[in-house]
Amino acid sequence: MTKQELALEVIERLKKEYPDADCTLDYDNAWKLLVSVRLAAQCTDARVNVVVQDLYAKYPTVEALANADVADIEAIVRPCGLGKSKARDISACMKVLHEQYHDNVPDDFDALLKLPGVGRKSANLIMGDVFGKPAIVTDTHCIRLSNRIGLVDGIKDPKKVEMALWKIIPPEEGNELCHRLVNHGRDVCTARTKPYCDKCCLNDICAKNGLEHSK
Ligand code: SF4
Repeated sequence: MTKQELALEVIERLKKEYPDADCTLDYDNAWKLLVSVRLAAQCTDARVNVVVQDLYAKYPTVEALANADVADIEAIVRPCGLGKSKARDISACMKVLHEQYHDNVPDDFDALLKLPGVGRKSANLIMGDVFGKPAIVTDTHCIRLSNRIGLVDGIKDPKKVEMALWKIIPPEEGNELCHRLVNHGRDVCTARTKPYCDKCCLNDICAKNGLEHSK
């Protein structure tokens, strides 16, 4: 099986396994997803979803957050960890949105990448989830599972994994596949325990079980 054939098979099987795969960060506005994605670094989505409620109760708009005292943002987001740097990035990012984008989030990948605290993973998530454009979000689950399954071989660098996946995944499938890899990584192909290969829907095609996949 080639890697492209493997990718298509993985996409189809995970679609059946997780038909409703979606982002697990709560948001009703693009700028709120930007905030949540920054807070989600080294923190669970569940905790972020709780913490942002306090943040938006006090600062309900881009403008309010752009004008907020960074120390006050830090005090609210501290439970997510890395409070100082996350508060600094959120403040700087909201200032740019307010001053340059009329409180909107740009629907351009390169413009997103220029926002403070926004890397390729976050920019891809926004492009895919908010704007419905092709996206590949290489978070920890995507990287781990792509290597185990054999979609990539021994690549850990997020950008390199992303570039390798772009070559074998139909663009329109990337965003949802990545959400499903998160589901599968949490439920079955886990990081902290041995993966539950015996109950995995990819068991018979997975490289972890000795199957080789050509380029
Ligand atoms: S077979 Fe095992 S290693 Fe492969 S994807 Fe499934 S759980 Fe992960």
